[in-house]
Amino acid sequence: MPRAKSNKSAHVDSLKNSFDHYIRYSLSRDKPQERDLYQALALSVREQLMDKWRDTRIRNNQFSTRKVAYLSLEFLMGRALGNAILNLNLKPEVEQTLLNYSAELEQIAEQEQDAGLGNGGLGRLAACFLDSCACLDMPVLGYGIRYEYGMFTQQFCEGHQIEQPDRWLRDGNPWEIKVPHHNQLVRFGGRTDTYTDEQGRLHHQWLDSEEVLAVAFDLPIPGYQNGRINTLRLWKAEATDEFDLSQFNQGGYSEAVAAKNQAEQITMVLYPNDSSENGKELRLRQQYFLSSASLQDMLASFVSSHGADFDAFAANHVIQLNDTHPSVSVAEMMRLLMDVYEQGWDEAWAITHRVMAYTNHTLLPEALECWPVELFERLLPRVLEIIYEINARFLEQVAHHWPGDGSKLAELSIISDGPHKQVRMAHLAIVGSFSVNGVAKLHTELLTNGLFKTFYELWPQRFNNKTNGVTPRRWLANANPRLAKLLTERMGEGWITDLSQLNAISAYTSDSDFCHHWREIKHSNKKAVARLVEARCGVEFDPSMMFDVQVKRIHEYKRQLLNILHVIHLYRRITQGDTQGITPRCVLIGGKAAPGYTMAKLILKLANNVAYMVNSDPRVRPWLRMAVLPDYNVSAMEVICPGTDLSEQISTAGKEASGTGNMKFMMNGALTIGTLDGANIEILDAVGEENFFLFGLNAHQVHQTRTNYHPHHYVERSDNLRQVLSLLESGHFSLLEPGLFQPILDALLSPTDPWMTVADFDAYLCAQEQVDHAYANQDHWTRMSIRNTAASGRFSSDVTISNYRDEIWHCADATGSSTSSTSNSHKEQVNDKG
Ligand SMILES: *Cc1c(COP(=O)(O)O)cnc(C)c1O
Repeated sequence: MPRAKSNKSAHVDSLKNSFDHYIRYSLSRDKPQERDLYQALALSVREQLMDKWRDTRIRNNQFSTRKVAYLSLEFLMGRALGNAILNLNLKPEVEQTLLNYSAELEQIAEQEQDAGLGNGGLGRLAACFLDSCACLDMPVLGYGIRYEYGMFTQQFCEGHQIEQPDRWLRDGNPWEIKVPHHNQLVRFGGRTDTYTDEQGRLHHQWLDSEEVLAVAFDLPIPGYQNGRINTLRLWKAEATDEFDLSQFNQGGYSEAVAAKNQAEQITMVLYPNDSSENGKELRLRQQYFLSSASLQDMLASFVSSHGADFDAFAANHVIQLNDTHPSVSVAEMMRLLMDVYEQGWDEAWAITHRVMAYTNHTLLPEALECWPVELFERLLPRVLEIIYEINARFLEQVAHHWPGDGSKLAELSIISDGPHKQVRMAHLAIVGSFSVNGVAKLHTELLTNGLFKTFYELWPQRFNNKTNGVTPRRWLANANPRLAKLLTERMGEGWITDLSQLNAISAYTSDSDFCHHWREIKHSNKKAVARLVEARCGVEFDPSMMFDVQVKRIHEYKRQLLNILHVIHLYRRITQGDTQGITPRCVLIGGKAAPGYTMAKLILKLANNVAYMVNSDPRVRPWLRMAVLPDYNVSAMEVICPGTDLSEQISTAGKEASGTGNMKFMMNGALTIGTLDGANIEILDAVGEENFFLFGLNAHQVHQTRTNYHPHHYVERSDNLRQVLSLLESGHFSLLEPGLFQPILDALLSPTDPWMTVADFDAYLCAQEQVDHAYANQDHWTRMSIRNTAASGRFSSDVTISNYRDEIWHCADATGSSTSSTSNSHKEQVNDKG
């Protein structure tokens, strides 16, 4: 019978059949609820990709193309269902199937919990990269941790952030598949020893260590309608059977269970700190656990199919380290090659240095990871030994390069000197890698002229820039279906895999029909944002007003405070009847504060209190409304960015490495108000000054001002600033708790305020007035909006990944053809041994 049908309808049958099957035989429920429909749908969509997934694995093994492992402690994946349906082109079949159950895909998809295995930009970047790698048909394997608890969920209680654990796996995860043949053992603790064998060779041993089992779970990463399904492999920590057994035999039942818990602790929870580390032992355990399990897995797979030819291994693999979090991999790779695979130091180093590549994500000093030597010694004694040896050989090189200059040795050493010696993980990553990249032009410049200047002098060819990007599948095609439809109607669907094609729509700014459609789409997307805000905050947003949005982690450098001061300014003017030139706007702020970051939490409390005052004054309501969205995450962003008019990217210049939220907004036709920071600079360059609201000090000026910064001078010179600060100081926004916000005032007025908020206040106000003026002319605004989307092509993560492929990874695509014209530059990098 299937032979009589077209391919397409055979497809419908198989999805529909497996869906019915799951409903009947897996769920045991007569009247399936939405949650059941989601489970059945996810499992039947997964079934559709299993054959392609296997084909991809076979293909990866057939071609000896270079494989990439992307190691990251964070993958902020969000939901998988909508993305899988889009990339597998299953939408019509899914909708037809759901029809029989009177269900709508949009509602069913809402049932899926976000996979929130990341804090913010860094984790979301890893997720966008995996999508682009699959879409570009590249053999890339993601390695991460299967945290039992992902990023905490956030609520507000009287304006204070409350954190709740995110038990995202409670109902099971239909997307993961346990692959026990990939399980690995990871060791901790114990001591080291050496012995000499009969041939007189010295061997190193790691004795009396505890073993933890790394259990492998695979998640599918479908390419866009190209048949490739890549893999994200996540590790879960479990106690080994042997471990339990020895304890049981001694009659220590409770001790055995307690020890089992301790092993499973390792992957229990994601650390909720964005851009800051706090030296917790468990965190180092997580880092080593991921690194060791992943490297063992790669080496074992290679050796089982190619034998122990490690030169071939090096020729066939690249390991991209997402920040320093997995950088202990450098030493672990050395350990595995020497102690397990019996390579000598020089061979092992040549291999390690040929495969490791490191991406730096931040310039903030508090985010540069250092681990106490004492902790390393206790947890990973053999690894520390290797780090010391790497460092000794490296410092010898430094001494040759700068004869007699002891300060260079101290500056570059992997081990910091002083009473509390520490391992500097960024130094280990740089020394052990053939490539070091920043994530936006300015960021890479600041790395090579500042933070890593001396390393750059030593190895200039090692450093390169790869400006971040975001995937247009999730952030445009899937998140903004109305706009996607309009784009495809006008120019075909090529833009989905080649976003530069969007350039063509800038020609439509004079097409009034197109502009009309554009504005209608933005309006209906704003209605969706208004529904979200109403449901979560109980605040009514009016889609005829401007939607002004700042959603991102709460951090002083991102300057949510500057935004709040502007709201206070507008509030003050409106309550005094001064509405001249003001365009009605709804201000949305959202984001999580790290649970231990007191100032960030106080900023959230201020935002909530200001929103309360703004929204409860009927005089203000026609002009200004404000909401603080709880639990900002990937799924919230998928609703928010298509329905935003104005994107706030207002960090202190020189502090935001790249930003990627800025790109999602631009792609969806928002205009940016922003500083010359991170990728804003490249956005400005792409779209032109006349389509961007630029303000504030640049990175150089911030640096210059720092030594001689007097916030009071700015206060004296600015009536607006003085009035805003005095309203804040008066206790108007904390009537029951006077002085509550004093720490904020103190920080703003401190000559050592690193974020220099008041220095940019007047310029920000002025830029906001230009925004008001521009928005008042809707035809003009619409044209600027179109030009932003049109110019967003270069911020597709497909472009970013093509650059990683051509300039760092040098891997051919899966057809085996070489894609790179720059293979010479790789030779140069390989020869540049550390
Ligand atoms: C894109 C994204 C981020 C990064 O936003 P920035 O504005 O670049 O800091 C953080 N969190 C989520 C959920 C995102 O989708």
